[in-house]
Amino acid sequence: MQKKLCFYYSAMKGGKTTRIFQKIHDLEENNQQVLLIKPAQDTKGEAKIINRLKQTRTVDILLFPASKVLSEENIDKIYDCDYIIVDEAQFLTPSQIDELWKINKKAKVSITCFGLLTNFRGELFPGSKRLIELSDERIELETNSLCTCGATAKFNARKVDGIFTMEGDEIEIDGARKNVEYVPLCGACFYKEVYRKQRRNNK
Ligand SMILES: [Zn+2]
Repeated sequence: MQKKLCFYYSAMKGGKTTRIFQKIHDLEENNQQVLLIKPAQDTKGEAKIINRLKQTRTVDILLFPASKVLSEENIDKIYDCDYIIVDEAQFLTPSQIDELWKINKKAKVSITCFGLLTNFRGELFPGSKRLIELSDERIELETNSLCTCGATAKFNARKVDGIFTMEGDEIEIDGARKNVEYVPLCGACFYKEVYRKQRRNNK
């Protein structure tokens, strides 16, 4: 069987974590040793992932932006596992994605990354861009992420103090700073509520 590097993406609040728990469960049922990786920038669950049912799973490798995936500390964990799952893969750096690709192709470990495609400005995250370039399969998750108008959401708009904005750092975890929240929006609503207003304000 071909060992693939796969990228599953959806907008925020699209049920990704539920899918990750399902995937890990299925793999472990089949006696696969699963290694769970999460970037350290996602401070939400710290060294855990948490789904809506408040189930938790401890992360095996918490990855900082400057760290190598294949560090001395991680190397045994990586070569001992059968399958790697990455949560919030958009926060990985392009060189970390390159490392995952190398692990997949050279060490022949299957890897599935879950994440967002685009940031709050509607632009690809550098990590997601690299995943699109290198992955064997890119799959848009069938999502339950709905825009406020009821259409399927594609954008992850940012609100600061209740107002949509396209300004600020690429990574701002909601809940970490109290006044930041994210709203899944469809293309039409993102254009109208965020992009067009921003352009008008900048004139
Ligand atoms: Zn909409």
